[in-house]
Amino acid sequence: MKDESQVKITLPDGSERFYPKGVTALEIALSISEGLARNVIAAKVNNEVWDPTRQITEDSLVKLLTWNDEDGKATFWHSSAHLLAEALEALYPGIKFGTGPSIEKGFYYDVDLGGQTISQEDFPKIEAKMLELARQKNEYIRKPISKADALEYFTKKGDEYKLELIDGLEDGSITLYEQGGFTDLCRGPHIPNTGFIKAAKLTNIAGAYWRNKQENKMLTRIYGITFPKQKELEEYVTLMEEAKKRDHRRLGKELELFAFSEKVGQGLPLWLPKGAMLRERLQAFLSKAQSRAGYVPVITPHIGSKDLYVTSGHWDKYGKDSFQPIKTPNLDEEYMLKPMNCPHHCEIYKTSPRSYKDLPLRFSEFGTVYRYEQSGELHGLTRVRGFTQDDAHIFCRPDQVKEEFIRVIDLVLYVFKSLGFDDYSAQISLRDPNNKEKYIGRDEDWEKAESAIIEAAAERGLSTVTELGEAAFYGPKLDFMVRDALGRKWQLGTIQVDYQLPQRFQLEYTGSDNQKHRPVMIHRAPFGSMERFTAILIENTAGQFPLWLSPDQIAILPISEKFADYAEDVFFQLQDHDIRGFVDHRDEKIGRKIRDAEVTKVPFMLIVGEKEAAEGKLSVRRKGEGDLGSMTIEEFTAFFKKEAAIA
Ligand SMILES: [Zn+2]
Ligand SMILES: [Zn+2]
Repeated sequence: MKDESQVKITLPDGSERFYPKGVTALEIALSISEGLARNVIAAKVNNEVWDPTRQITEDSLVKLLTWNDEDGKATFWHSSAHLLAEALEALYPGIKFGTGPSIEKGFYYDVDLGGQTISQEDFPKIEAKMLELARQKNEYIRKPISKADALEYFTKKGDEYKLELIDGLEDGSITLYEQGGFTDLCRGPHIPNTGFIKAAKLTNIAGAYWRNKQENKMLTRIYGITFPKQKELEEYVTLMEEAKKRDHRRLGKELELFAFSEKVGQGLPLWLPKGAMLRERLQAFLSKAQSRAGYVPVITPHIGSKDLYVTSGHWDKYGKDSFQPIKTPNLDEEYMLKPMNCPHHCEIYKTSPRSYKDLPLRFSEFGTVYRYEQSGELHGLTRVRGFTQDDAHIFCRPDQVKEEFIRVIDLVLYVFKSLGFDDYSAQISLRDPNNKEKYIGRDEDWEKAESAIIEAAAERGLSTVTELGEAAFYGPKLDFMVRDALGRKWQLGTIQVDYQLPQRFQLEYTGSDNQKHRPVMIHRAPFGSMERFTAILIENTAGQFPLWLSPDQIAILPISEKFADYAEDVFFQLQDHDIRGFVDHRDEKIGRKIRDAEVTKVPFMLIVGEKEAAEGKLSVRRKGEGDLGSMTIEEFTAFFKKEAAIA
């Protein structure tokens, strides 16, 4: 048992250890192993990221963070923003600072250069200064400070941006961080010292309005990225070059898959014929798999009455930041563009009385939803304002949760395998055991569902990490992460238990005891959305889709106009076998036609000339492989079918 002078530390694996009050995450790491302590750059303490050197004075849930954790990287990069600021201040005296957060890949700092200028040519000099300062291994020191003292410090320094920020802060909550000769207003957290930063690269420079407001002054935003090893920087640079080539926004345009129009509206993708074909294929593929897995399709409208979302809780939570209600000629009638399909599906559940024998019910819908994302957040197909979820809701009894999880895991893994995502892992998000009152739903149901998820994942041999305290307040969940061809991680496929909506919508079933019971609801979407998944698929395959998905699977290339009729004839015969493509009737040399088909990534080129027309054959070329020889139409069809089979 612990005594008064100790704190109980619960680690992510659930193990408990006792330490003297005031222990730091770094000391906890050291008590486990020296190697670990060398790599700890931050810690999650009761789900808040802390300096690893900050004293822990209460019983806490502690997760040690290294470079391999997203939060660890964020801390590393945010600390690097301070290092950049220190370097800038040394090189450009009098420079003023806005804010310097970490971003998805790296960090930036917004600065007011006064009369001075910085361009990309200055980057090497700044990078060198950053590394020089990093080698000094200066500690990041956290200093709580009163509001008055903070104001005085930055008044003396003449940094009006910091003064404006301090204005909005509450006395008693303010901290400064100091490293080397540089002091910044900052909430933290930070890595132990600058020595962890071994490689630095500035990546971009741009204008940015102070606090993102157009009426404010335009500051200079300097972007950078840093690493704990030089080798990682080199890998990053190579990766960036490859990623640029695979950028789905670029390939989407080149392959004529999708487009955006200012006139239609920001973040509202237009699927072009080839993209629509691809999407329909994906949808048909998943529909078939879902039908085999016992799902039944439902269809619901794109809007719902505001009342529906008041009941679901979405109005309260997101109403203000969403597309605003749609009015009708009737004064007290209001509708919302639907942000989620779940409320509609709850109402479908309620259309008839349900018995325990009816469950599970699995309603699936490719449901289009609308969410108002800030325009700065929009990004190709990965962040849009209108998108179609491959949604489904499973309504089941508490004792069926495990079986249903296993079935959804099987479906998700089938999707991954069929589409070439071989490297995946999963995260199980559970309750914070020290804060059970934060969550809705009965304790025994939570325990049952949590162990069901853990067991289901184990039975399917998933490699998982378990995060305590990461569950939503309405239920635990399982998230899949895939690693793409460039080693980048994407979150795909979430399976989420929900105790809240069944309660809000008063869903019931009659149990074998003849009593009313509440079903458990499970949300799941293997793709996430058609838009985001397509983007990931484009980047993972570099636009070279699996044959069964390719919008154009064949290009028939007549050597000259003389063979146009034969080419058309072949085309119709292949169409009868559900082989998609086109005849290239342009008056171009055959070499040019082949090159163009290669560029647009058509998997098979079927060349027809005099000999082929006379013999009723095709000269078959495969992209990336070259000549496969001549085949009859029957031979090619049989060969194609084998190649196009879904893994
Ligand atoms: Zn900071
Ligand atoms: Zn849902």
